[in-house]
Amino acid sequence: MKIEHQEDGRIVVTFRQSWLNDSTLCLERGRRAVIEPEKRRTNDSAAIGTAVHAGIEAHLNGDDVGLAMDGAWETLLSEGVVSTLGWSERQMRVETCELWNTWHDEILPTLPKISHTEYGFNVPFYHTEVNGTPVEVRLSGTVDAVCEDGTLWDWKTAARAYSEREKQNTAVQPTVYAAALSRVGLTDYPCTFKFGVLIREKHTSQIVSVTRSRNHEVWLASMTEPLVRQGILLGLESPWPVNDTSALCSQKWCNWYDSCRGSALTTTDLYNGGTPTSNPKKRGK
Ligand code: SF4
Repeated sequence: MKIEHQEDGRIVVTFRQSWLNDSTLCLERGRRAVIEPEKRRTNDSAAIGTAVHAGIEAHLNGDDVGLAMDGAWETLLSEGVVSTLGWSERQMRVETCELWNTWHDEILPTLPKISHTEYGFNVPFYHTEVNGTPVEVRLSGTVDAVCEDGTLWDWKTAARAYSEREKQNTAVQPTVYAAALSRVGLTDYPCTFKFGVLIREKHTSQIVSVTRSRNHEVWLASMTEPLVRQGILLGLESPWPVNDTSALCSQKWCNWYDSCRGSALTTTDLYNGGTPTSNPKKRGK
């Protein structure tokens, strides 16, 4: 979420789907992601996803895949990668190649003609008013691949297969992308959005197809409007409501844990002599 006060008195609020995902889990996590972005760390499973993305994009653009994936790893490692899988650098690089091969052999042949890769957007979504101040709400992000038939694709690396039912029911990414790209004429409702999922270690693939209609867009607007009001009226300086019931509220999975819940509760308070379980929600990039 980005809140920008314009010289003409208007306020522009821009949402990315990843921020909406974070905030659904915990509003305070969303606030901290805005005010303390430097605390955001890349873990190994996300890093593998980023490097695979670089290889896929290179292939689709006719560039050198090996060079792209090596370049991605150089950048990721120089910035620091947090270990959650316990893998060596070599294991992560080999896994990246395996997953790219799986994409190349199993997903690429199913793709219709692609019109855009890594399509960046920043488009107006709706206008509202907060205490008499006009507010423009925008959506921004990057779609991995846009096909000529209007189908949108996102590449995912994941520990396990996705539930199509769950993604159809709750995924915000397809809704945001469909709303944005219908505005620039690259898709239309009903919009088909496909997750091209690459499963780590098994090196298998899964294509998860969901559809989005204008009703989803209406719901997205209803869902975001209270966040707009909260962001503007409450501001970003004081804490927002927390949700500490998610398994992601832990030192391992929340970048802001130490200065948030971890500053109040010790491991004894939390586990009473036991140990935290690992990996509560295996997910991709
Ligand atoms: S530590 Fe927990 S409560 Fe605090 S921001 Fe992270 S997820 Fe939210």
